[in-house]
Amino acid sequence: MAFYFDNAATTVMAPRVKEAYNKESELFFANPSSSHREGQKAKEELERIRTNIASIMNVKSSSIIFTSGATEAISLFFESLSWLDPGTIIISKIEHEAVSSWIPWLKRIGWSVITLRAKNGLVSPEELLSSLTPDTKAVCIMRVNNVTGAIESIDEYASIIRDFEKSHSKKILFFSDSVQALSKIDYSLDTVDAASFSAHKINGPRGIGILYSKNPDIIHPLAPAGGQEHHHRGGTENLPAIRAMEEALIISMENKDEKRNRIKEINITLRNELNNMGLKLLSPIVSSPYILSFVSPIPSEVFSRILMDKGYLVSAGSACSNNAKGKAEGILEAMGIKHSDSTRAIRISLSNETTKEETLGLIEAIREGINGK
Ligand code: PLP
Repeated sequence: MAFYFDNAATTVMAPRVKEAYNKESELFFANPSSSHREGQKAKEELERIRTNIASIMNVKSSSIIFTSGATEAISLFFESLSWLDPGTIIISKIEHEAVSSWIPWLKRIGWSVITLRAKNGLVSPEELLSSLTPDTKAVCIMRVNNVTGAIESIDEYASIIRDFEKSHSKKILFFSDSVQALSKIDYSLDTVDAASFSAHKINGPRGIGILYSKNPDIIHPLAPAGGQEHHHRGGTENLPAIRAMEEALIISMENKDEKRNRIKEINITLRNELNNMGLKLLSPIVSSPYILSFVSPIPSEVFSRILMDKGYLVSAGSACSNNAKGKAEGILEAMGIKHSDSTRAIRISLSNETTKEETLGLIEAIREGINGK
């Protein structure tokens, strides 16, 4: 039996979520685009879920576009930029690869890209302000970093952007990848133009997510065929997964303050104990309580294997898979962390199911690991 501390990579599906998926696939088996009775029933159900998710997120239902996950949601936004005349886009250097991998393409189609550092994990409002130019058409800063858990001051950045917009009479699109924020911290979508979300980070299924776009008309489908999602995302809707995502969202909101306070306490215990061991923490104080990264005494690949042998699954950096190896190092180095520390980064990520007892076990395993036991 292994204890799972890699919830920022993915979570275990909740039993109620699995039940909702199965029931939905039986009750609403038809294609929502079919004109017969069962198809129309599925379409009504799809729109009911959209309305409910929008109301949980406190936004208009027309701003919710269902996608195959956050990577697709992000792609939908960035590909839509190609419908604008090229301009300048400002992107933080600590973005997930789902965002940063778009930079070469943007440059190729004529956009100028300005990157923002994030010393100690946080983007500086002053650097954002000094980077804005009359040519700026878009800004992209994530809400919660997936490596450190750092919470960015999105509302403060937004007010800088909106002031600049007003004084230059122009529109700047503000996009914020909010995958690691969903159900983990309180925030409002009022101040951004677009944001991405993923169900599998909140005990929902994989392969389903959301692009929030305040003005959905700016979104051009990657695949126009079919005209689904109000012509913003072609392809038959994955209704059982969409229903399962709704259930995961509902569950995450039940007693949310109680759940988050319990995780905050576990996080404080972890922070204190790692500090007592003399380990350097990489997560700033203003971080999601669900993510805590530290520098281990030996390379992260080796240390994470030692912990695995003791029954604890953590992440070497941000690796969601072996393909992501090295990406966490880049993010940490953009924060000003030296290379010899970034290659020893370990990420612990919690879920609402994480118990204090198993966390104490992890702390003991780390202590033994650093003492070579
Ligand atoms: N953005 C962030 C911050 C993430 O942590 C992840 C997942 O690791 C993604 C985007 C991609 O999400 P998905 O797996 O739904 O494509």
